[in-house]
Amino acid sequence: MTTLEQRWESVEESVEEACAAAGRARSDVRVIGVSKTVGLDAVAEAIEAGIHDFGENRPDELVRKHDAFPSENWHFIGNIQSRQLEKVVGRACLIHSLYQESHADKIDRLAAAVGIVQDVLIEVNDGESNKQGVADENLIAMLTHCAALKHVRVKGLMIMAPIGDASVARATFKRLRELRDAAQSDLAARGIDMELHELSMGMSNDYSEGIGEGATMVRIGRAIFSADYAG
Ligand SMILES: *Cc1c(COP(=O)(O)O)cnc(C)c1O
Repeated sequence: MTTLEQRWESVEESVEEACAAAGRARSDVRVIGVSKTVGLDAVAEAIEAGIHDFGENRPDELVRKHDAFPSENWHFIGNIQSRQLEKVVGRACLIHSLYQESHADKIDRLAAAVGIVQDVLIEVNDGESNKQGVADENLIAMLTHCAALKHVRVKGLMIMAPIGDASVARATFKRLRELRDAAQSDLAARGIDMELHELSMGMSNDYSEGIGEGATMVRIGRAIFSADYAG
Protein backbone atom coordinates (compact mmCIF):
# COMPACT_ATOMS: atom_id res chain seq x y z
CA MET A 1 0.00 0.00 0.00
CA THR A 2 1.18 3.49 -0.83
CA THR A 3 -0.01 6.98 0.03
CA LEU A 4 -1.41 9.38 -2.53
CA GLU A 5 1.60 11.61 -2.06
CA GLN A 6 3.99 8.72 -2.84
CA ARG A 7 2.03 7.71 -5.92
CA TRP A 8 1.90 11.31 -7.14
CA GLU A 9 5.67 11.60 -6.67
CA SER A 10 6.29 8.47 -8.67
CA VAL A 11 3.92 9.60 -11.46
CA GLU A 12 5.66 12.96 -11.51
CA GLU A 13 9.04 11.21 -11.84
CA SER A 14 7.86 9.08 -14.76
CA VAL A 15 6.32 12.10 -16.45
CA GLU A 16 9.64 13.92 -16.13
CA GLU A 17 11.49 10.90 -17.53
CA ALA A 18 9.10 10.60 -20.47
CA CYS A 19 9.47 14.32 -21.22
CA ALA A 20 13.25 14.09 -21.05
CA ALA A 21 13.29 11.01 -23.31
CA ALA A 22 11.15 12.86 -25.85
CA GLY A 23 13.23 16.04 -25.62
CA ARG A 24 10.22 17.94 -24.33
CA ALA A 25 9.87 20.41 -21.48
CA ARG A 26 7.99 19.20 -18.42
CA SER A 27 5.89 22.35 -18.63
CA ASP A 28 4.50 21.20 -22.01
CA VAL A 29 2.51 18.41 -20.37
CA ARG A 30 -0.39 18.89 -18.01
CA VAL A 31 -1.23 15.97 -15.73
CA ILE A 32 -4.94 15.61 -15.02
CA GLY A 33 -5.77 13.55 -11.94
CA VAL A 34 -8.82 11.49 -12.82
CA SER A 35 -10.74 11.50 -9.55
CA LYS A 36 -13.86 9.70 -10.81
CA THR A 37 -13.49 6.78 -8.39
CA VAL A 38 -12.74 8.77 -5.23
CA GLY A 39 -14.51 11.15 -2.90
CA LEU A 40 -13.98 14.68 -1.68
CA ASP A 41 -11.44 13.65 0.97
CA ALA A 42 -9.09 12.18 -1.62
CA VAL A 43 -9.49 15.26 -3.81
CA ALA A 44 -8.57 17.44 -0.83
CA GLU A 45 -5.50 15.27 -0.25
CA ALA A 46 -4.55 15.55 -3.92
CA ILE A 47 -4.84 19.33 -3.84
CA GLU A 48 -2.61 19.30 -0.78
CA ALA A 49 -0.08 17.20 -2.76
CA GLY A 50 -0.08 19.80 -5.54
CA ILE A 51 -2.61 18.52 -8.09
CA HIS A 52 -4.85 21.22 -9.53
CA ASP A 53 -6.35 19.60 -12.61
CA PHE A 54 -8.99 16.92 -12.12
CA GLY A 55 -11.00 14.78 -14.51
CA GLU A 56 -14.52 13.49 -13.98
CA ASN A 57 -16.68 11.37 -16.27
CA ARG A 58 -20.12 11.80 -14.68
CA PRO A 59 -21.89 15.17 -14.67
CA ASP A 60 -23.29 14.83 -11.15
CA GLU A 61 -19.85 14.08 -9.72
CA LEU A 62 -18.39 16.98 -11.66
CA VAL A 63 -20.99 19.27 -10.08
CA ARG A 64 -20.38 17.92 -6.58
CA LYS A 65 -16.59 18.14 -6.74
CA HIS A 66 -16.41 21.37 -8.72
CA ASP A 67 -18.75 23.07 -6.26
CA ALA A 68 -16.73 21.76 -3.30
CA PHE A 69 -13.42 22.92 -4.86
CA PRO A 70 -14.38 25.66 -7.34
CA SER A 71 -10.90 27.11 -7.74
CA GLU A 72 -9.43 23.86 -9.11
CA ASN A 73 -9.55 23.03 -12.84
CA TRP A 74 -12.28 20.48 -13.60
CA HIS A 75 -12.11 18.56 -16.87
CA PHE A 76 -15.05 16.61 -18.23
CA ILE A 77 -13.82 13.37 -19.82
CA GLY A 78 -16.99 11.26 -19.90
CA ASN A 79 -19.62 10.25 -22.38
CA ILE A 80 -21.83 13.24 -23.18
CA GLN A 81 -25.56 12.97 -22.67
CA SER A 82 -27.49 15.90 -24.04
CA ARG A 83 -29.79 16.32 -21.02
CA GLN A 84 -26.80 16.49 -18.67
CA LEU A 85 -24.78 19.07 -20.59
CA GLU A 86 -26.21 21.97 -18.64
CA LYS A 87 -24.34 20.73 -15.57
CA VAL A 88 -21.05 20.52 -17.43
CA VAL A 89 -20.93 23.75 -19.46
CA GLY A 90 -19.24 26.50 -17.48
CA ARG A 91 -18.08 24.15 -14.71
CA ALA A 92 -15.68 22.23 -16.92
CA CYS A 93 -12.62 24.23 -17.93
CA LEU A 94 -12.35 21.77 -20.82
CA ILE A 95 -14.68 19.12 -22.24
CA HIS A 96 -12.44 16.36 -23.70
CA SER A 97 -15.12 14.09 -25.12
CA LEU A 98 -17.12 15.99 -27.73
CA TYR A 99 -17.73 14.21 -31.02
CA GLN A 100 -21.33 14.87 -32.06
CA GLU A 101 -22.43 17.98 -33.93
CA SER A 102 -25.74 18.09 -32.05
CA HIS A 103 -23.85 18.18 -28.74
CA ALA A 104 -21.61 20.96 -30.04
CA ASP A 105 -24.73 22.95 -30.95
CA LYS A 106 -26.17 22.43 -27.50
CA ILE A 107 -22.91 23.43 -25.78
CA ASP A 108 -22.90 26.57 -27.92
CA ARG A 109 -26.44 27.51 -26.82
CA LEU A 110 -25.76 26.79 -23.15
CA ALA A 111 -22.47 28.70 -23.18
CA ALA A 112 -24.09 31.65 -24.93
CA ALA A 113 -26.81 31.71 -22.29
CA VAL A 114 -24.26 32.15 -19.50
CA GLY A 115 -22.02 34.43 -21.54
CA ILE A 116 -18.94 32.23 -21.85
CA VAL A 117 -16.96 30.43 -24.53
CA GLN A 118 -16.65 26.74 -23.67
CA ASP A 119 -13.31 25.12 -24.45
CA VAL A 120 -13.55 21.62 -25.89
CA LEU A 121 -11.48 18.84 -27.45
CA ILE A 122 -12.81 16.61 -30.20
CA GLU A 123 -12.61 12.93 -29.31
CA VAL A 124 -11.38 10.73 -32.12
CA ASN A 125 -12.25 7.04 -32.43
CA ASP A 126 -9.32 4.66 -32.05
CA GLY A 127 -10.31 2.89 -35.25
CA GLU A 128 -10.71 -0.49 -33.56
CA SER A 129 -13.31 -0.30 -30.83
CA ASN A 130 -16.57 0.99 -32.26
CA LYS A 131 -17.22 3.05 -29.18
CA GLN A 132 -17.17 6.79 -28.96
CA GLY A 133 -15.31 9.35 -31.00
CA VAL A 134 -15.48 10.83 -34.45
CA ALA A 135 -14.05 8.68 -37.25
CA ASP A 136 -10.86 10.02 -38.87
CA GLU A 137 -12.65 10.76 -42.14
CA ASN A 138 -15.29 12.87 -40.38
CA LEU A 139 -12.92 14.97 -38.28
CA ILE A 140 -12.60 17.88 -40.70
CA ALA A 141 -16.37 18.14 -41.04
CA MET A 142 -16.75 18.18 -37.25
CA LEU A 143 -14.05 20.84 -36.84
CA THR A 144 -15.58 22.96 -39.60
CA HIS A 145 -18.97 22.69 -37.93
CA CYS A 146 -17.54 23.80 -34.58
CA ALA A 147 -15.63 26.69 -36.15
CA ALA A 148 -18.97 28.33 -36.92
CA LEU A 149 -20.09 28.21 -33.27
CA LYS A 150 -19.22 31.41 -31.44
CA HIS A 151 -19.41 29.98 -27.94
CA VAL A 152 -17.45 26.78 -28.55
CA ARG A 153 -13.66 26.90 -28.86
CA VAL A 154 -11.90 23.76 -30.08
CA LYS A 155 -8.45 23.48 -28.52
CA GLY A 156 -7.34 20.10 -29.85
CA LEU A 157 -8.03 16.37 -29.93
CA MET A 158 -8.47 13.51 -27.48
CA ILE A 159 -8.24 9.76 -27.90
CA MET A 160 -8.37 6.60 -25.80
CA ALA A 161 -6.01 3.87 -26.97
CA PRO A 162 -7.41 0.35 -27.16
CA ILE A 163 -6.48 -1.83 -24.22
CA GLY A 164 -3.41 -3.61 -25.48
CA ASP A 165 0.31 -3.44 -25.39
CA ALA A 166 2.40 -0.30 -25.29
CA SER A 167 3.22 -0.43 -29.00
CA VAL A 168 -0.50 -0.40 -29.89
CA ALA A 169 -1.00 2.64 -27.65
CA ARG A 170 2.02 4.37 -29.12
CA ALA A 171 0.80 3.80 -32.69
CA THR A 172 -2.64 5.14 -31.74
CA PHE A 173 -1.15 8.31 -30.27
CA LYS A 174 1.17 8.82 -33.25
CA ARG A 175 -1.84 8.55 -35.53
CA LEU A 176 -3.69 11.22 -33.51
CA ARG A 177 -0.75 13.60 -33.72
CA GLU A 178 -0.50 13.12 -37.49
CA LEU A 179 -4.24 13.53 -37.85
CA ARG A 180 -4.02 16.78 -35.88
CA ASP A 181 -1.17 18.06 -38.07
CA ALA A 182 -3.12 17.27 -41.23
CA ALA A 183 -6.31 18.85 -39.89
CA GLN A 184 -4.41 21.95 -38.80
CA SER A 185 -3.00 22.43 -42.32
CA ASP A 186 -6.39 21.83 -43.88
CA LEU A 187 -8.06 24.43 -41.66
CA ALA A 188 -5.29 26.96 -42.25
CA ALA A 189 -5.57 26.48 -46.02
CA ARG A 190 -9.26 27.35 -45.79
CA GLY A 191 -8.64 30.38 -43.61
CA ILE A 192 -10.29 28.86 -40.54
CA ASP A 193 -8.78 30.27 -37.39
CA MET A 194 -8.52 27.32 -35.01
CA GLU A 195 -5.45 26.32 -33.02
CA LEU A 196 -5.41 22.56 -32.37
CA HIS A 197 -2.64 22.77 -29.80
CA GLU A 198 -3.87 20.25 -27.25
CA LEU A 199 -3.48 16.47 -27.53
CA SER A 200 -5.15 14.67 -24.62
CA MET A 201 -3.78 11.15 -24.82
CA GLY A 202 -2.48 8.72 -22.22
CA MET A 203 -3.88 7.13 -19.07
CA SER A 204 -2.27 5.24 -16.15
CA ASN A 205 -0.89 2.43 -18.29
CA ASP A 206 0.12 4.39 -21.38
CA TYR A 207 0.90 7.99 -20.45
CA SER A 208 4.62 7.61 -21.21
CA GLU A 209 3.69 6.59 -24.77
CA GLY A 210 1.34 9.58 -24.97
CA ILE A 211 4.08 11.97 -23.88
CA GLY A 212 6.48 10.34 -26.36
CA GLU A 213 4.07 11.16 -29.18
CA GLY A 214 3.35 14.73 -28.15
CA ALA A 215 0.57 14.62 -25.54
CA THR A 216 -0.03 18.00 -23.92
CA MET A 217 -2.42 16.42 -21.43
CA VAL A 218 -2.44 12.99 -19.81
CA ARG A 219 -5.44 11.73 -17.83
CA ILE A 220 -4.22 9.64 -14.92
CA GLY A 221 -6.61 7.92 -12.52
CA ARG A 222 -5.50 4.68 -10.88
CA ALA A 223 -1.77 5.45 -10.77
CA ILE A 224 -2.58 8.44 -8.56
CA PHE A 225 -5.75 7.50 -6.70
CA SER A 226 -5.64 3.72 -6.26
CA ALA A 227 -3.82 2.52 -3.15
CA ASP A 228 -3.10 -0.90 -4.63
CA TYR A 229 -2.06 0.27 -8.09
CA ALA A 230 0.90 -1.89 -9.08
CA GLY A 231 1.90 -0.05 -12.26
C1 LIG B 1 -11.06 6.62 -16.22
C2 LIG B 1 -10.50 7.39 -17.34
C3 LIG B 1 -9.15 7.76 -17.35
C4 LIG B 1 -8.16 7.31 -16.28
O1 LIG B 1 -7.91 5.96 -16.41
P1 LIG B 1 -6.79 5.24 -15.48
O2 LIG B 1 -6.52 3.97 -16.19
O3 LIG B 1 -7.43 5.06 -14.14
O4 LIG B 1 -5.63 6.13 -15.44
C5 LIG B 1 -8.70 8.54 -18.40
N1 LIG B 1 -9.52 8.94 -19.38
C6 LIG B 1 -10.82 8.59 -19.41
C7 LIG B 1 -11.67 9.08 -20.53
C8 LIG B 1 -11.35 7.81 -18.39
O5 LIG B 1 -12.65 7.48 -18.43
